[in-house]
Amino acid sequence: MLLGGIEGGGTKFVCAVGTETGDILTSVTIPTTMPAATLEQTIAFFKKQEVLHNQSLAAVGIGSFGPVDLNPQSEHYGYITSTPKPNWGYTNVAGTVQQAFPDIPIGFDTDVNAAALGEHRWGAAQNWDTFMYMTVGTGIGGGAMVSGRLLHGLIHPEMGHVLLRRRDDDPSERGVCPFHDNCLEGLACGPAIKSRWNIPGEQLPPDHAVWDLEADYLAQAMVAFMTTLSPQGIILGGSVMHQQQLFPMIRQKTLALLNNYLRHPVLEHMDEYIVPPGLGDKAGVLGSIALALAAAEDSAR
Ligand code: ZN
Repeated sequence: MLLGGIEGGGTKFVCAVGTETGDILTSVTIPTTMPAATLEQTIAFFKKQEVLHNQSLAAVGIGSFGPVDLNPQSEHYGYITSTPKPNWGYTNVAGTVQQAFPDIPIGFDTDVNAAALGEHRWGAAQNWDTFMYMTVGTGIGGGAMVSGRLLHGLIHPEMGHVLLRRRDDDPSERGVCPFHDNCLEGLACGPAIKSRWNIPGEQLPPDHAVWDLEADYLAQAMVAFMTTLSPQGIILGGSVMHQQQLFPMIRQKTLALLNNYLRHPVLEHMDEYIVPPGLGDKAGVLGSIALALAAAEDSAR
């Protein structure tokens, strides 16, 4: 089965064709420019892959930056909606891909829900049916699976904007989010790290004070999500989490903030509870292929 996956991000679209076993055959990175041009290049890639593999795609999955409309009953289903990204407001992403491939199912979800699905199928979450996937990078987003289903609800989770307590010794007076003074994304995304000393995180040493702040904010968020979603595990991905030293700090601070309130044998092994993505940096694009696979399976029913 030839499956198409689109990891639609604010700076790049990663497109790939892969198989139902989670193997990527070919992938390409397309810069996110204007919507029409970006989607045109995306579609051209898949058309070319169909010729090269002498096979039609069985389905395409799209994991998109948001906010997106996931309600199939809505007139804007499949759209990127009220995004602050210039020119991308109310872009019909799924519909444009569907028009190019009218005979196959198109799966559509948030980028982080897609990554969660991929991790569930092939990665670190294979033994969990209620868990979350959070990416910490240029922005912060979280997706969740609850009892085996991706969580949508009213719109979809926006975990990056959970409000936190700003630490007194934080050198910045407010976070970088234009909407909130002290939300997780505003305090802990890549640009927030850079904003404090005007040095990007990847150039700061692993023992720099910023990582203690960063782990603190992420741990506050972990407590908020553990006490609301009751996840069996939490996956933290994205470029900021390449800072491996953060994992033990986040685990330890999360336990300290919980202060023994939540008790479960699993929480005695935090290194198996808060984990990096099993699929590494491919979680997003493989997640989109997992969305395609789910769409193909649904339509075969
Ligand atoms: Zn915010």
